[in-house]
Amino acid sequence: MDSQTCARVKLPDGTTYEQPTGIFISNEFRKSHDKTVIDSINPYTQLPIASIARGKLADVNAAVAAAKSAFSGWRDTSPQDRAKLLSKLANLIERDVETLAKIESIDGGKPVHIAKGADVLASSACIRYYSGWADKLKGDTIETDPDTLNITIIEPLGVCGLIIPWNFPLLITCWKLGPALAAGNTVVIKPAELTSLSALYLAKLVVEAGFPPGVVNVVTGLGNEAGQALTEHPDVKKISFTGSTPVGKVILKTSADTNLKKVTLELGGKSPSIVFDDADLDQVIEAVNGGIFYNMGQNCCASSRVYVQESIYEDFLKRFAARARRNKSGDPFDNNTFLGPQIDGNQHSKIMGMIQRAKSDGVGVVTGGTSPDGWFIEPTIFRDVKSSAEIMQQEVFGPVVAVAPFKDIHDVLEKAHDTIYGLAAAVFTSDIKRGIRLSKMLQAGSVWVNNYNMISHALPFGGYGQSGNGKDLGSEGIEGYTQLKTVRFMYENLAK
Ligand code: NAD
Repeated sequence: MDSQTCARVKLPDGTTYEQPTGIFISNEFRKSHDKTVIDSINPYTQLPIASIARGKLADVNAAVAAAKSAFSGWRDTSPQDRAKLLSKLANLIERDVETLAKIESIDGGKPVHIAKGADVLASSACIRYYSGWADKLKGDTIETDPDTLNITIIEPLGVCGLIIPWNFPLLITCWKLGPALAAGNTVVIKPAELTSLSALYLAKLVVEAGFPPGVVNVVTGLGNEAGQALTEHPDVKKISFTGSTPVGKVILKTSADTNLKKVTLELGGKSPSIVFDDADLDQVIEAVNGGIFYNMGQNCCASSRVYVQESIYEDFLKRFAARARRNKSGDPFDNNTFLGPQIDGNQHSKIMGMIQRAKSDGVGVVTGGTSPDGWFIEPTIFRDVKSSAEIMQQEVFGPVVAVAPFKDIHDVLEKAHDTIYGLAAAVFTSDIKRGIRLSKMLQAGSVWVNNYNMISHALPFGGYGQSGNGKDLGSEGIEGYTQLKTVRFMYENLAK
């Protein structure tokens, strides 16, 4: 790395570290083809951290070519060797947990102490989990008639494009990187333009772990430049995308218009929490508070709609508002901070616009509703929100929750299902039979009973409806990076 593909970044605590800034192809960092760059901005200070390469078509072509030529070697590496390398990468992420947490914080505005566990250690755990899968993929034997032996073989797809959003940059990269590599694919990662630093740092660890050149490549750049070029590329066999529903639709269409590459989509949500009057309200308040305000509401499965049974509605609102006001906003490097700023000025304006429109429409504000400073937004609770309201229908992707009362199960199911999304849902009740019944009835990819946001790398995660196609994580996550071949051997039946 030279000074044009690497920067020494000074962190708010006075320490410094080496940040790669170039495009990563065949284990080397290089400038973008036309030498253009994008500034990565710290959302707390609103100052640039570093200039990163702005990759375009030529850079994507070079990265895909490298991934394509590395594919056969990587596919033929023994599963045990792939597992060893992934396990080494997991250890290196864990070794550098402090630096990576600080990178996620300066680049995305999230509190360092939260990023450490929820982003970085969860990333290493995910890579380690998939290292264990590398030698456990297996086909089948299927009996059809006495003269043939039928088997299925699981094979990798080839070059996979991994397109990442800005809300959990390292974590979602690892959700996709782990299974793609374990199954024997090579990859080109396209991080979000707002938060590319951790993926570039990860690339440095990929070299240190000893992955062969071309197995992992990273092209930073804009969605409609680098992202689109990757999605259109004829040599890319799969796109695994996490991001907004509108862009997910563009990706699906582009795949259909080009080489019909496989597409996994993890998209937006408008996830409901349903609170029955027999629930443990202390537990509910903590879960719902974390459910919506964690990561400043910039969470695909944020609990952005809350339905509360009529008899406890007023009590719930009072306690929820008091809890929301206790969330500490401020410096992401302060260990007491729970809420940092929103990711950028565009998101901040979009969210404040939605808050203003709800207020102008006469929706009641229980707490919050203002922006105290910079790109910060107060935790905001709206009450008695009608099903048709914008904040009940649209993904806000900020610290804003719409609350409404309900009468009974039928009423609340109708309300909960009045959405185009189906990423997650939660039920709070002390009646376990009701919890089980509702978990089966709710049309969502994940249902949490008496908890929220409890995601594990061992459990499949993905949406119903317009929240997506396919799954990340668990065994289904790795299946999505494979294809199945059927082989029939014919032989003479000696028993005849
Ligand atoms: P986004 O759709 O704007 O961008 C996501 C990624 O796609 C970025 O890397 C971007 O550069 C790229 N991109 C944009 N346009 C593209 C195009 N035309 N072709 C190819 N790539 C393109 O989303 P975002 O704002 O980064 O992330 C927020 C969204 O992600 C929210 O809607 C959120 O709900 C969703 N999300 C979903 C999950 C999930 O698992 N379901 C997880 C996290 C975030």
